[in-house]
Amino acid sequence: MKKHTQCVHSGTYNDPGTKGVNTPIFTSSSFEYMDLPENVYPRYNNTPNQKAVINKLCALENAEDGLIFSSGMAAISTAIFSLLSKGDHIVLQKDIYGGTHHFATAEFDRFGIPYDFVSNQLEEIEKAVRNNTRIIYIETPSNPLLLITDIQAVADYARSKQILTIIDNTFATPINQNPLDLGIDMVIHSGTKYIGGHGDICCGAILSSKALMTGIKATAANLGGSLNATTCYLIERSLKTLGIRVERQNQNGMSIAKYLQGHSCVKRVYYPGLKSHPDFEIAQKQMRAFGGMVSFELDDKKVDQHQFLNKLKMVRPALSLGGVETIVCVPVVTSHEKMTPAERRDLGITDTLLRLSVGIEDADDIMADIEQAM
Ligand SMILES: *Cc1c(COP(=O)(O)O)cnc(C)c1O
Repeated sequence: MKKHTQCVHSGTYNDPGTKGVNTPIFTSSSFEYMDLPENVYPRYNNTPNQKAVINKLCALENAEDGLIFSSGMAAISTAIFSLLSKGDHIVLQKDIYGGTHHFATAEFDRFGIPYDFVSNQLEEIEKAVRNNTRIIYIETPSNPLLLITDIQAVADYARSKQILTIIDNTFATPINQNPLDLGIDMVIHSGTKYIGGHGDICCGAILSSKALMTGIKATAANLGGSLNATTCYLIERSLKTLGIRVERQNQNGMSIAKYLQGHSCVKRVYYPGLKSHPDFEIAQKQMRAFGGMVSFELDDKKVDQHQFLNKLKMVRPALSLGGVETIVCVPVVTSHEKMTPAERRDLGITDTLLRLSVGIEDADDIMADIEQAM
């Protein structure tokens, strides 16, 4: 099956009792055990609603196995605490989601996990690798500057060194990019974003091989970040339209990036689908399309950022991303507020950087709102 068909059909639980075309919501946290091959329990991540979502995501990411979680951070923390032991070293790309960055700086030392943050360039990653490096962790397109990491190059290098690779594929979604096909060992999603897609769900996912998921599942049951049946059902419903939503966001993202690039009040635009993006060629190679995230800087001599945000009528200044409605945020006070000013400066995350999450509205209406606010 191709992507849109997988979105609709993969994983659906066919209810033999009612013959309904959709997966029913099984609210039980208590399941009989006498006649079943395994004990079923929500925290073991094996209820029918959890499995339906997991199977759909596995189909979309070409994964053998996977798990869903109650948040993206539950997925990230479970993956890392499952794969690393005291003394194991991890190399992380430094321009990643602020919460992941903070997870490392706030927690790793206490557990005796040495770590290094490096740029997304393979030479820098190679330089940071030590004898005890067990994981290379990347994110592409990255949050918030939409930098592109060469997935295949990192995966090939890591395999040659027997180092595991993890990628945060939240921004690309499985519609635009399938990192497991390029040799990455493990894909992580914050399903709170495009997978949920309507700004009303918090969840996460890990997709990988059967072998690696065995350990992840055992740790997941211990850490306990499992997801309830009702939210699983909502995700399954959301995923049916993931393909058409993201296609639309790809189109809108490109239109708005071009509009902003040509605007006299805009100093700089970050969008991997623009020829002016430094990693345009790598993006072309590994992505089917470039997504709905567009970051930009206003010319502060011409537009006051605070006034601009206040003047927007339809586009709301809001946290999170990936929903059907266009929202905008200032990473310095939202997703990346816990980074030190020095860390942000090093990355190029300026106080005037704006991150736009383009929705599925008509592009003309989004641009008209931005135009009147500028
Ligand atoms: C939001 C986000 C996360 C964290 O996900 P939560 O669902 O908020 O826990 C991780 N990675 C990226 C790229 C994100 O945007």
